[in-house]
Amino acid sequence: MDLSRREALKLAAWGAAGAVLGLRSAVFGQAAGTAGEKTEKMESNEAKIKGEVAMSEYVLPPLPYSADALEPVIDAQTVGLHHDKHHAAYVKNANAALDQLAAARKAGDFKAVKALSLALAFNASGAVLHDLYWQSMDPKSPREPKGKFAKQIDADFGSLEALKAQFAAAAKDVEGSGWATLAWEPSIEKLVVLQIEKHQNLTVWGATPLVVCDVWEHAYYLNYQNRRPDYVDAWMGIIDWASAGHRFEHAVEAPAAHRH
Ligand code: MN
Repeated sequence: MDLSRREALKLAAWGAAGAVLGLRSAVFGQAAGTAGEKTEKMESNEAKIKGEVAMSEYVLPPLPYSADALEPVIDAQTVGLHHDKHHAAYVKNANAALDQLAAARKAGDFKAVKALSLALAFNASGAVLHDLYWQSMDPKSPREPKGKFAKQIDADFGSLEALKAQFAAAAKDVEGSGWATLAWEPSIEKLVVLQIEKHQNLTVWGATPLVVCDVWEHAYYLNYQNRRPDYVDAWMGIIDWASAGHRFEHAVEAPAAHRH
């Protein structure tokens, strides 16, 4: 894949996009054992975290503040475990899923594709969402929205207070494990509050879909009845790769969503 440096920079913010599009650069492949290579890998990780280069795999960014900085709202032990164990595991397992999928492609053996796709969605979503979670908090100087963002909030919610009320209600009402999020919905150019339940079911947050195939029965049943594989096989032949390419170009040009 031939990405210009500028395009690569744009991709850096959402490592998810790179992962989903298969943009795994050889430069940042698994480092072997010597001290020199280790240093190089550490430096490349730092550059990736800073957004200077495209992430070719998920990385665990350091906490943007000390573990005790969120006290008394969140205690240091909770923050430490959450970042160093939970978030780290998502990153490690997302990269493992990418590696296993690469091996499956190489072998032409996709019998584990369902489990691996789920592992990728679950862990990559976890990695992306935790990254955003840490960045969503500022213990020292929580700032009010300003400028264009403030205007958009007023336009879409009425007021910051109304947004906060909806966000809090959504967060409290998530069934089981999950998240609440304020998100930009570009197709209607509105901010929306969403609940994220079972984040593996919602694929990789931050990834921009380029091609989708509907596999609900209503999409194929009259012609194919229970033979979904036949429908999918046939459907693969009618993909408009040119329009997908336009969407891809648009997506890589899109401004970085959350590294500010
Ligand atoms: Mn978590």
